[in-house]
Amino acid sequence: MVGRASTVAVVGLEAVPVTVEAHAGNGLPGFHVIGSSGVAAGQAAERVRTALSAAGVQVPSRKFLISLAPADVPKIGARFDLAMAAAVLAEMGAIPADALDADAMIGELALDSTVRPVPGILPSAAAVAQNGGRLFLADANAGEAALVGDLDVVGLATLRELIGILTGEEQPRPLCAANPPPFPPVPELADVRGQPEARRALEIAAAGGHHLLLLGPPGCGKSMLAKRLPSLLPQLNDEHALELAAVRSVAGAGSPVLDRTPPFRAPHHSVSAAALFGGGSGVARPGELSLAHRGILFMDELFEWPRFVVEALRQPLEDGVVRVARSRATVTYPARVQLVCAANPCPCGGGDRCACSDEVIWQYRSRLSGPLADRLDLAPSVHPLTAADLLGEQGGEASAAVAARVTQARAVAAERWRGRANAEARPAELRRTARPAALRILADAVEVGELTGRGYDRALRVARTCADLDGSTHIESHHVYEAHAHRMGLRAAGAAGALR
Ligand SMILES: [Zn+2]
Repeated sequence: MVGRASTVAVVGLEAVPVTVEAHAGNGLPGFHVIGSSGVAAGQAAERVRTALSAAGVQVPSRKFLISLAPADVPKIGARFDLAMAAAVLAEMGAIPADALDADAMIGELALDSTVRPVPGILPSAAAVAQNGGRLFLADANAGEAALVGDLDVVGLATLRELIGILTGEEQPRPLCAANPPPFPPVPELADVRGQPEARRALEIAAAGGHHLLLLGPPGCGKSMLAKRLPSLLPQLNDEHALELAAVRSVAGAGSPVLDRTPPFRAPHHSVSAAALFGGGSGVARPGELSLAHRGILFMDELFEWPRFVVEALRQPLEDGVVRVARSRATVTYPARVQLVCAANPCPCGGGDRCACSDEVIWQYRSRLSGPLADRLDLAPSVHPLTAADLLGEQGGEASAAVAARVTQARAVAAERWRGRANAEARPAELRRTARPAALRILADAVEVGELTGRGYDRALRVARTCADLDGSTHIESHHVYEAHAHRMGLRAAGAAGALR
């Protein structure tokens, strides 16, 4: 007879049902796994055999063939151990054969038969919920699986407990309420002293979904400002929070609580391509770009980033997804991010003592050309703190007050553009919301070579957001002037031909 159990593989963020079959026959005693790759299969066989015997199961001295199907789905990691053990138990008659018909199981087995948690639970649990039936997994994974409603989750400490439940000797334990450490607080905008221009640019970026470049000398607070952008953004809705939770789950950072704060990720410029875009040897993992999904990717010291990395950002920024080629399949991870970049204005860092020649500055900023230059909408200058800033009573406005205006402006834009933000507005539709005089200002700038055609549309998008923050139906001239002022950093670089 053949013992059967159901489990789930995860490819990218996609869950694929996998059937495990176990058959005992004549031949050299031992476990042989087929349908999984070489070394991993051998290790899984050893873990399952040892865990069964640690759980007090007398495995007959026969040749057990364990098959994982479909064979062409990559099956990496130890998440199939539990289902393999269950299939063997069903084959032996140690558990009723029909006990596993409807249920699925996911978990790694330790040699002492403890059931261990594995990554990728959230997408797996969602797939199991669609098919009905219970999901057996490690206690530490149970809370995360329970995020999926309409699913009967059974947490396990050991393999022995699984046997007890399936033979009817034990009852499943009620799930303990999850009590994870609280999420770290989001940095508060009121902590920032001075910087009225950069604060306003941050508000516009938040309201319109615009990519932002902060230009200023080292130590003036660029990364402090960037870290405060999530506090100005609306909380993630159910759909977006679950998308992010699935990415975190597959990355091995699953949580039993849904986090609604937009993520903020700040990889160093020396980050490997695999860590940024996803991939890596063995189990493919989402990278920083996907961990920033529906939130902020902060690229500090932008001009230090390798050119090939910046070039490779083009497609994910365009598509909102990143594709990672694997030996057996191409996996896709979501990557809809808002970029915040920071850079020194020149190689020496800028400031009063700067003696960099135009030539040197030109070379330095020309690194900004290409995919990023076309996407950055705002480039405010961040200034070193003055004595007045330091002696001032308080920082500026608190995040909550700014976030309220941002939420209002976003709602107006979403209504107008059918769900999109101003940063994604179509040029023709955008122009129809502007006063002729406002368009004239930009057209004149194009005519004298201060602005390119592309720059025209990007400036108009920013002006649209200024108008929305102002509660204005039309883009007026003063909105265009404000947008233009916040793009001056880009023009300074553009004067050298790199960017307009
Ligand atoms: Zn300099």
